[in-house]
This record gives sequence, C-alpha cells and structure tokens, in this order.
Amino acid sequence: MSNILNNYSLKYHNTFGVAAKAKYFTSFSSEDQLAELLKDNICKTESLFILGGGSNILLTQDFDGLVLANNIKGIEIITENEKSTSIAVGAGEIWHDFVLWSIQKNLSGIENLALIPGLVGASPMQNIGAYGAEVKDVITKVRYIEIESGKQKSFTNSECNFSYRNSIFKDELKGRVVITEVVCKLSKTPLNNTKYGAITDELKRLNKEPSPQSIAQAVINIRSSKLPDPKVLGNSGSFFKNPIIETIWFKKLKKDFPEMVGYKISETQTKIAAGWLIDNAGLKGYRKADAGVHKNQALVLVNYGNATGLEIINLAKEIQEIIKEKYGIQIEPEVNIL
Ligand SMILES: Cc1cc2nc3c(=O)[nH]c(=O)nc-3n(C[C@H](O)[C@H](O)[C@H](O)COP(=O)(O)OP(=O)(O)OC[C@H]3O[C@@H](n4cnc5c(N)ncnc54)[C@H](O)[C@@H]3O)c2cc1C
Repeated sequence: MSNILNNYSLKYHNTFGVAAKAKYFTSFSSEDQLAELLKDNICKTESLFILGGGSNILLTQDFDGLVLANNIKGIEIITENEKSTSIAVGAGEIWHDFVLWSIQKNLSGIENLALIPGLVGASPMQNIGAYGAEVKDVITKVRYIEIESGKQKSFTNSECNFSYRNSIFKDELKGRVVITEVVCKLSKTPLNNTKYGAITDELKRLNKEPSPQSIAQAVINIRSSKLPDPKVLGNSGSFFKNPIIETIWFKKLKKDFPEMVGYKISETQTKIAAGWLIDNAGLKGYRKADAGVHKNQALVLVNYGNATGLEIINLAKEIQEIIKEKYGIQIEPEVNIL
C-alpha cells in the first residue's frame, strides 16, 4: 500500500501556486499499484482527484479527499514501419520531455506542442493544442483504469470523442477514470506544419529551414517570449476557451467591433479569440489584490503572490460577466476548477 500523507500542501503541485491543501495525498507509479490502491477502503469512502502536473487546475478550496498523483513512467516503441512509429508513453512522463524524445528520434507530429506544461496522461483530457496542432492527430489509443471497477480498459482515437479542448475524459468520464498510458503514432517524414504564421516568422529570424527540430525551437522561443513562466508568476496558461458562436452573430458583432478576430470553423460557426474580447474590454493588466489579468496576455490570469483560488475564480466570474454584457458571448474556463 502506498504511503498516504495527511493535510498535504498542494502549493507546489499547481502552477497557479495557490496554497490549498489536500486531506490525503499519495502517488502511484504503475497500473498494478494503482489497481491495489483503488481497492483500499480510503478510495471507496473519500472523494478522489487525479493529479498530473497541476498546470490546468484552479484550487478554490482545500480538497476534502484523496489526491492521487500520477507517476507512471516509460517511453517505449511498440511498432514501426517505414512511414511511422507507434510509441506507448506512461501517463506520468513530462509532456515536453516526450516532445524532446520524439525530436531526438527524428519523429514528427508533436513538435508544435513543445513546452506545453504538464504530464502525458493529461494530454488527451483537453486534447492539448497549440500553434496549429492538436494531440488528437497523433493519439491512437488511451489506456485507463476505471475507478469504480478497478478494471483496465482502453479507447481508440475515435472513442475519445476529441474536439477543441475537450474529450470524453473531460466530459462524461471526468473523475471516473485514471489515464495510465497514451499511445501516439508519429511520422518518420517531417510534417513541417508551419501554417501558424508566427512559426514561419521565427524560422526566418533563426535562419532555419522547417524541420521537427527547428519548429520545436521556434515554438519554444515564441512561447518563452509570450507566456509568463509559472515558476516566476503563477498561472495556468489560457484561463478561458475561445468561444464558438454562430457566424450570423459574429457578423453582427463585427459591425460594432471591426477589429474582432474570428476563425471560420464550419459553414455556420466561428471561433472568436477570447483574449481579444478581454483585451478589447480594457481588462488587460486588470488586478484585484494578488489576482490579475496578465499585462501582455489577456487570456492568462495570474497569481501575483498570495492570491487564493477563490480570489482568482471571482476575478474570472467578473470577466465572464463583463464579456457577456459587452458582446453577448458566454466565455467558459478551460481550466479545471476544484
Ligand atoms: C504556462 C502554461 C501554458 C499552457 N499552454 C497550453 C497550450 O498551449 N495548450 C494547451 O492545450 N494547454 C496549455 N496549458 C494547459 C496545461 O498545460 C495542459 O492542459 C496540460 O495537459 C495539463 O497537464 P497536467 O498534467 O498539468 O494536468 P493537471 O493540471 O494535473 O490536471 C488537469 C485535469 O486533468 C485530470 N488528469 C490529469 N492527469 C490525469 C490522468 N492521468 N487520468 C485522468 N485524469 C487526469 C485532472 O484530474 C484535471 O482535471 C498551459 C498551461 C500553462 C501553465
């Protein structure tokens, strides 16, 4: 049986740096260990929370239950042919380490997702995405353990119901499964996905031709210059999702706000840049005590030091109300609120 700690501080287990505590805390480093743990009475009587790197959570109160931290390691090539390689990755591996591993092996598919914080096990949760790529495009299988039965199961890509910042794991299976392994199929031919303009600009600046390596470097440079480092300033990346609205509504709004940024995602729907909505509402740099909107990135809420989770969520609610009032658009958090 794993060591279960009491009254455990989660301050260094969430990138917001919020000083909340867990009633109980433990970690597991294999499927077998997790399955054993789930049979224990504590898992039947207490609320459970599965923790990765804590880079997409906001703790608004102490957690009155057992936090299970994922520490399953391992990166293993399972099959390969002349075109691609399939790799099984333990859910407790650091995502960015896996990206660096793939580049070292001359594999392509996740270089655009370099430097996204967190662990591999959380990557299917919200179908992580950045700079023109999403993890759903490389995942072929997700292994998980069902908490209630303790059974080991798996989903194929289509069973994961991936969509923009969402999947079955963040939706109907939320809190009901523990992802233990993610299988990704990476290409042996460089994909050179430079459809995101900033990558092309950075490659020019670096004087480099597109390759998995140079694209990852470009993404790392762009991210490091744009996003606040959670080690310096607590945050969880984009706090809100980009809202998807009816294109008819977008066209109406465009008359009042000609600069509004929207991306057509279907014949009838348009995705709006939530950061633009917040910035244009004059909220960039807005601060209440130690909770604030980042001074350069309106989509990023930050903890200037001693903000509580409650202060951050109250700020988020205030922003939601202002955005609703100004544009008639409901923006929703991307971050998991506890
Ligand atoms: C500076 C910064 C930049 C970011 N940039 C991006 C970005 O560009 N694109 C993007 O998509 N995201 C981004 N994020 C958000 C975050 O990095 C991702 O969502 C990441 O996948 C979260 O991983 P984690 O291990 O930290 O998850 P956690 O925060 O620990 O958990 C997030 C959720 O997943 C659940 N969970 C975690 N692991 C498991 C598991 N093994 N089984 C079941 N449930 C699990 C948790 O219970 C929780 O609900 C950013 C965050 C920061 C701080």
